[in-house]
Amino acid sequence: NAQTHLHKVELLPKDYKTDTKPFWCPGCGDHGVLTGIYRALTELGVDPNYLVNISGIGCSSRLPYFVRSYKMHTLHGRAGPVATGVQLARPDLAILVNGGDGDGFSIGGGHMPHLARKNINMTYVLMDNRIYGLTKGQVSPTSQRKMKAYTTPYGGVEEPLDPVLYMLTYGASFVAQTLATNVKMTAQLIKEGMEHKGFSFISVMSHCPTFNAIDDAKFFKESAEELQENHDVSDIDAAMHAVNMAHKNGRIPVGLLFREERPTLDERMAELVKQVGGSPDYDLRKIIDLARP
Ligand code: SF4
Ligand code: MG
Repeated sequence: NAQTHLHKVELLPKDYKTDTKPFWCPGCGDHGVLTGIYRALTELGVDPNYLVNISGIGCSSRLPYFVRSYKMHTLHGRAGPVATGVQLARPDLAILVNGGDGDGFSIGGGHMPHLARKNINMTYVLMDNRIYGLTKGQVSPTSQRKMKAYTTPYGGVEEPLDPVLYMLTYGASFVAQTLATNVKMTAQLIKEGMEHKGFSFISVMSHCPTFNAIDDAKFFKESAEELQENHDVSDIDAAMHAVNMAHKNGRIPVGLLFREERPTLDERMAELVKQVGGSPDYDLRKIIDLARP
């Protein structure tokens, strides 16, 4: 049962809200992502007592403040490694990570391949606005080349990277893409990602009306292209091909690109402990305590 890692309760979307009202700019795409998350958590019936929401630094990394859960607002780019530690110490918890394009693919970029290849059981929601919003508008690794920003007053000279292609390449076992303006699709993909046992990566194109005038909500909507109905989500070549074809045509592919079932890191560690004659209910926290001076 793919859902055994989620503790369930019956709640309403409002029950996942905290007393802190979202303090993003009016019209920010991140509001839509948050609504999608409330909806996904409600439909799945995730028990907030068994939910940990972890983020790095950036506008989108504020999201855990608004979600009823345990939470950690960590260092810039380090949400993934912190989430890995939480997951290995408490594999019974549901882990939701949020971050932006700068946090995840610039300063934190070195961590992403390892979350993917180790298949750590967590859901990573990237909120990609193709700009640094919190520091008031500098180009990010996903900014379009010619974008004019404070750091590129005459337009930029670097090609952007594509987060979904990156994650497919490094072996993420669930890769999807959606738009912040499409709350229904965002909620559905986050729900499927949280049900998936393993590392699920959902890229949400989340516009920043304050600092990014070229990748606005209209641009994302007009560029989005749903995957073909007969797209085979178990075929990695088909997923890569869909992304590459979309690039050639200046489009953004949306939908579930790839999904595969394979053992998670905590499952493999538990298996190894059993193989070498250790206790099946070993407690990683006790092992860490042994190492303390
Ligand atoms: Fe959203 Fe941009 Fe405002 Fe940040 S600066 S809250 S990303 S609109
Ligand atoms: Mg950003």
